Amino acid sequence: MTDWARQINIKTPAEIAIMREAGRINATVLATVRDLLKPNVSTADLDAAAEEVLKKHGAVSPFKGYGYPPFPNSITVSINDELVHGIPSPTRKLKEGDLVSVDCGTFFEGYVADSAFSAGVGELSPKAQMLLQVTEQALYAGIAQMRAGNRTGDISAAIQQYVESHGYHVVREYTGHGVGRQMHEGPQVPNYGKPGTGVPLRPGMVIALEPMVLIGTHKTKVLKDKWTVASADGSLTAHHEHSVAVTEGDPLILTVQ
Ligand code: MG
Ligand code: MG
Repeated sequence: MTDWARQINIKTPAEIAIMREAGRINATVLATVRDLLKPNVSTADLDAAAEEVLKKHGAVSPFKGYGYPPFPNSITVSINDELVHGIPSPTRKLKEGDLVSVDCGTFFEGYVADSAFSAGVGELSPKAQMLLQVTEQALYAGIAQMRAGNRTGDISAAIQQYVESHGYHVVREYTGHGVGRQMHEGPQVPNYGKPGTGVPLRPGMVIALEPMVLIGTHKTKVLKDKWTVASADGSLTAHHEHSVAVTEGDPLILTVQ
């Protein structure tokens, strides 16, 4: 288990209210980027637009400077076979039919919101459209399990079962995670698992659920830039993510407008 995964922080209602604001900003950033998904727009243009929205709201991205080598940008943009962690570049231009995954974090008043979506540039192939739908629905299948008394394994199993029932694959090396003052906190929530196992869910837990789905196999590789994660076989991939709070009742999605 990764070190960060050991620390589970239960949030007070006041903390969740701040995280909801961070989530709203994050949703605005992603909506802005989504509107820019057009042929000939560079992935660096998307990053610049995201940064402008963050700045306007007094927020910054926790991605910038994260890890080693330090991640250079505010969002990640991953295209087609690239699954996550793609580095924006002024020379990387979007093309008609690209399947683009954008991940953004918002650090606002001491708390992080984390969310991602995949969408098409113009018209997508039926194959890519189906992958998008399944990935997004897998996220909601996971969210539906985010109830006090359930366990993290219930979430993981729901995501895995949904994805695999459609003949696709879930990533193994990258997982959902608690989120709060830090971008990565416990519990760790893989996209595969067994019902009734793992950490019991309690009101005040906030988890970023993020199905990462591949058409060919579950295997990935890291590209030469040391960040971009792509499918090992070059097949299409997609990624959807929301930060969601466990409450006494229904799960509360924080990363929506
Ligand atoms: Mg994310
Ligand atoms: Mg995340």
